[in-house]
Amino acid sequence: MGNIVLLDDLTINKIAAGEVIERPASVIKEMVENSIDAGATNIVVEIKNGGISFIKITDNGKGIAQDDLEIAFERHATSKIRSADDLDTVTSMGFRGEALASIAAISNVELISKTQQQENGYKVVVEAGDILEKEIAPSSVGTSITVKYKFLKKDYTESGYIEDVITRIALVNPQIAFKLINNGKTVIQTNGNGDMKTVVYSIYGKTVAESISPVSYTYEDIKVDGVIGKPEIARSNRSNQLFFVNKRYVRDKVLTSATEQAYKGMIPLGKFGFVILNITIAPARVDVNVHPAKLEVRFQEENKIFQAIYHAIKDTLLKNEDKDGLFGNRNTNEKQIEEYTKRESEIKTNAQEKTYAFE
Ligand code: ADP
Ligand code: MG
Repeated sequence: MGNIVLLDDLTINKIAAGEVIERPASVIKEMVENSIDAGATNIVVEIKNGGISFIKITDNGKGIAQDDLEIAFERHATSKIRSADDLDTVTSMGFRGEALASIAAISNVELISKTQQQENGYKVVVEAGDILEKEIAPSSVGTSITVKYKFLKKDYTESGYIEDVITRIALVNPQIAFKLINNGKTVIQTNGNGDMKTVVYSIYGKTVAESISPVSYTYEDIKVDGVIGKPEIARSNRSNQLFFVNKRYVRDKVLTSATEQAYKGMIPLGKFGFVILNITIAPARVDVNVHPAKLEVRFQEENKIFQAIYHAIKDTLLKNEDKDGLFGNRNTNEKQIEEYTKRESEIKTNAQEKTYAFE
């Protein structure tokens, strides 16, 4: 029996992105998120020509039931929510039911899938939104999707964007083994052992991996997890500051501002700490619906988020300084803590007035 339903108009209007997913990097992001939602522990992404003409994503997730294969390509067809009420509790990466429809509208898609319950796997071929064929096809449990298309404009920078997409997703999903293959060459590979530090090692190398500390911090109903770097590996740009909210990559100045404040005094002006942090917060308290493609979020309580990030980083930095001055002994601990407490009221005001140090 299938699981996918068409959403009603009310729900559609509430969540509609109206986004056409065109870029290879966006196609890959959507498909990998589907694999994650399907519970995959192993995801392989293969691209050719920088993803301009060929993309293949293979996962070992739960698969798509045979009777769901056609409806999966309909607009607003999803197995993840039933109505707008579910938006307050939804924890899956997707829920709009638009990605497959949007991708199939502009490309040739071959999808092969098998569920645990089925004896056989099935293959569907979809082009310009039409199902061209459906037949039994050998498959293990899981899904593989091959997307072929002709882009008029060749964009040779696309593989860089694709690497960024996989890097971010891999970092925040250390329990999943990822592999990105570009023109037959493996460019990213993680082992899925559940440890973010191992993923950092795979992506950024040994030196960085040896200069980070795990963060696990709870501030009221907000949980902050991830890793932060020693002052030594601070960079002159923010490329190594990645923030996630419920495992979605976001850009938000409350987060970067809190980070800047927390590192203040430990790294020189104009340098930015290495920070990879995931904020876990009740879905009802954050609107990920603001603009799905533009990576914006709207927090209900910005000040609280600011505090959570600030304290999570500061505490980890101070804790590490405790240990034989690992994080550089610029100040004595006592002095640091004193200064830290003093600065707190100032920070609170800053966050409330939204007078951030930049932008
Ligand atoms: P959404 O993810 O918002 O539900 P999509 O268009 O991305 O919408 O996918 C439609 C449906 O197809 C999903 O709800 C899911 O049931 C199914 N699906 C897509 N990709 C996969 C996959 N890799 N594994 C299992 N099911 C999938
Ligand atoms: Mg999806």
